[in-house]
Amino acid sequence: MNQVRETVLKSFATAAHDHGRCIKTALAKAEQACVTSGKRLTPLRRRVLELVWGSHEPVKAYELLALLGQEREQAAPPTVYRALDFLQDAGLVHRIASLNAFVGCGEPREGHVSQFLICTACGTVAELADPALSSRIADCAERLGFRVARETMEIEGTCRNCQKTGKAGAHA
Ligand SMILES: [Zn+2]
Ligand SMILES: [Zn+2]
Ligand SMILES: [Zn+2]
Repeated sequence: MNQVRETVLKSFATAAHDHGRCIKTALAKAEQACVTSGKRLTPLRRRVLELVWGSHEPVKAYELLALLGQEREQAAPPTVYRALDFLQDAGLVHRIASLNAFVGCGEPREGHVSQFLICTACGTVAELADPALSSRIADCAERLGFRVARETMEIEGTCRNCQKTGKAGAHA
């Protein structure tokens, strides 16, 4: 029997949640994932990850650079981009293509395919992993003789919080 079900890897944050705990949990999971995959989470990579987890909104590379620049003199752009590449490869962060920005993964592991729900009112992002959705796309692609190299699914809308508070429209 097929037990595959969709999972929420990272849900929308409620206003009252303890974000300090989010960050701590995320870093602990990232460290564990690196141990498992034999990758090295250097202090810089770890710090970049922590900064990406600064909020539930996607963070742009130049914002990370500005934040790091305040604490390290040698935070040259290539170093930060390399750290982001590493974090992406390791499945610890994801790049939201439509925003050209990064979010931390709630259940980090290498090479997983996920879907993103993006709230255009508050800017927060939730991550889903529905293997059924991915295999459906793979099937359709195969029928057309198409080989999928990268799969990006980004869905825009309004989160429950913003629906409740009546916030709507584009995120500035
Ligand atoms: Zn949080
Ligand atoms: Zn993920
Ligand atoms: Zn929202």
